[in-house]
Amino acid sequence: MYAQVIVDIAHSQVDKIFEYSCEPGLEVGSRVKVPFGSRTMDGFVIGLSETPSYPTEKIKPVSEIFDELPALVPECFSLMERISSRYKVPKASALRLFIPSEMRLGKVREIYKSYAKIKDISVSISKSAKKQRECLDFLSECGEYAFTELCSEFGRGAVNALIEKGAIYIEKQRIARKPFEAISGQSADKKLTPAQLAAVMSVENTDKTVHLVHGVTGSGKTEIYLRIIADQIKNGKTAIFLVPEISLTPQMLSQLRARFGGEAAILHSGLSAGERFDEWWRLRSGEAKIAVGARSAVFAPLQNIGAIIIDEEHDASYLSETAPRYSTVHIARLRAEYNGCKLVLGSATPSVESYARAREGEYNLITLTERINKRPLPEIIIADMRKEVKRGNNTSFSSALREELGKTLSDGNQAIIFLNRRGYSQKILCRDCGYVAKCEHCDVTLTYHSEDDCLKCHYCGSKYRMLPACPQCGGIHIRYGGTGTQRVVADLNAMFPQARILRMDNDTVGGKDGHYKILSAFSQKRADILVGTQMVAKGHDFPSVTLVGILDADMSLQFEDYRSGERTFQLVTQVSGRSGRADASGKVVLQTYCPENYILRYAVNYDYLGFIENEIRIRETTFYPPYALVCRIMITGEDEQSALDVLKNVYEETEKLRAQDGDEFIFLNRMRSPIKRIQGKFRFQVLMRLKSGKYLKTIYDMAARYSDSKTFVYVEENPANLS
Ligand code: ADP
Ligand code: ZN
Repeated sequence: MYAQVIVDIAHSQVDKIFEYSCEPGLEVGSRVKVPFGSRTMDGFVIGLSETPSYPTEKIKPVSEIFDELPALVPECFSLMERISSRYKVPKASALRLFIPSEMRLGKVREIYKSYAKIKDISVSISKSAKKQRECLDFLSECGEYAFTELCSEFGRGAVNALIEKGAIYIEKQRIARKPFEAISGQSADKKLTPAQLAAVMSVENTDKTVHLVHGVTGSGKTEIYLRIIADQIKNGKTAIFLVPEISLTPQMLSQLRARFGGEAAILHSGLSAGERFDEWWRLRSGEAKIAVGARSAVFAPLQNIGAIIIDEEHDASYLSETAPRYSTVHIARLRAEYNGCKLVLGSATPSVESYARAREGEYNLITLTERINKRPLPEIIIADMRKEVKRGNNTSFSSALREELGKTLSDGNQAIIFLNRRGYSQKILCRDCGYVAKCEHCDVTLTYHSEDDCLKCHYCGSKYRMLPACPQCGGIHIRYGGTGTQRVVADLNAMFPQARILRMDNDTVGGKDGHYKILSAFSQKRADILVGTQMVAKGHDFPSVTLVGILDADMSLQFEDYRSGERTFQLVTQVSGRSGRADASGKVVLQTYCPENYILRYAVNYDYLGFIENEIRIRETTFYPPYALVCRIMITGEDEQSALDVLKNVYEETEKLRAQDGDEFIFLNRMRSPIKRIQGKFRFQVLMRLKSGKYLKTIYDMAARYSDSKTFVYVEENPANLS
């Protein structure tokens, strides 16, 4: 037999199929080790044939086969072709997406445990060998028993003697590490409301691939997803359930456990590598049928998929920021088409792109306008911070927020304070000369962290000692500008000394279940106030939260990005949605320096339709996505001159395309990126807006051609972040 193998090297020069000889029995999809040049490399078997396509003396044999069950399911090959041609990556890079990285790098292995079992109960055992007799009797009663435990009870000598006599034998069994095992489900099946039921029926009975569930926060979308999944499982199918990185909350886990027990497997960055590996194999072997996880779980090794759910579909975490820079919705759609199954996108604030497609009839649009039990959406109070400053209030808290916090605490309820900035203060500046502390490797200001009294770069992670004086003028009047979450906690402690406060941001969620610990402490009411970055905005359901404070609603409006309005609307709606979800009604205090801003107006009135109609119109008339494609060619390198040279060449080539076909290019320019340097690498870009994207392949090819060891060139389409 001959195997066609893709060698696991992500390089365009070896992006070919190699042939090796193999024993019969090797299966398509298996991972193998093969000789490659003077080394051996890992590879994937993507095809088998009886006859070779090369002279046999040139063909070397496969050296090793990795797994008992081929790791790749057949669907992977069709996806591999589409991903590698769409995003211009070698086939090996596309295949890597389907295999957990810990498995590829051989960092984790299965764990096995040895069990003793009865083989022949009639072997003769001498009268004096009492322990052996007892051990055999014991084992014949219980059938099998863990080897180590058996030895400690009856003595290793007795057990070994029984093995030698052929009375018992040892068998290795694979043990799965089960994440979050302590969580059991409490929430039983809920009776769906008529609106929920109608949504489920609409998904199941409408003959379209993609369904968009637009339901206000607290309208019970999770329950809809779970029912759709359950129905598919009943039909013998499998399902994928995607959530944004953070929102795999304790409630969600317990709901999944209650409903599906061991049939749900979790693929999440909060697991250890070993746990993830075992969960992945449970899915591959068919023991588990539901893959739950963040972005990468869209590649779960499932066959016969009945439904793919993407919760909070607008979330930026669904766009990959490393090559291949895929959109999760796009991959999910390819899989849905391959499997002939449903793709359900859900959100309280669908992305402009998804909503536009739904409005045009491409997606089935399902709308839920009310919260469960008709609970009101929380009232949003605008606090005009300009007036606060005029009144002499220079703190981060308006008098309205202070007052509402006081009430919430005295009522025994909980509050969430949202600020999308971690650390203590965002920048350190000298009042005498205006010096601002910046990172040596990046073009960004350093953030002061009070806990370890140091300055940190949030882009490269560099740490610096806090400055005792200004390095430029020697002045000692250092100002802390731009409040971060650490400072908010300190201020809250000073205002409400009795309040118990938790902080959730990138600095506090380290470790295996960092998020989980903070969220469960808060949901068990072991704290009164939760302060955090956007992590606190996503999907949580805390019944006792009756107040949400948005400290700086303007932050995301300041970016010059076509999506900043959309982002702000989504963020305000999502954070506000955490308030008043149970019996007590909720409030939101939104602090801003521009209360008249129209995006904030729409958000405060929960007017998604007003917002979206307006936004779609703007995008349509000014040619922005989804009515055009934003494409950025990034050029980065430590050597500024080489990067500049590449920028010039790339720009000139693109210019030529425009000269041929001016209609396609709405915009084309070259410039330094907004953040000029990160980790010592200078950053330049060719930015364009394209009508149809018909030259994308040419553009990807060009980027690959100019990329070398000195200067890195890559393409981003509609990037989530234009910094
Ligand atoms: P969403 O995801 O739309 O924001 P959730 O799915 O978190 O909303 O549901 C909001 C709350 O309503 C949750 O506490 C959930 O347990 C509850 N809930 C959902 N469906 C029902 C139902 N059919 N009956 C009673 N309570 C429900
Ligand atoms: Zn840095």
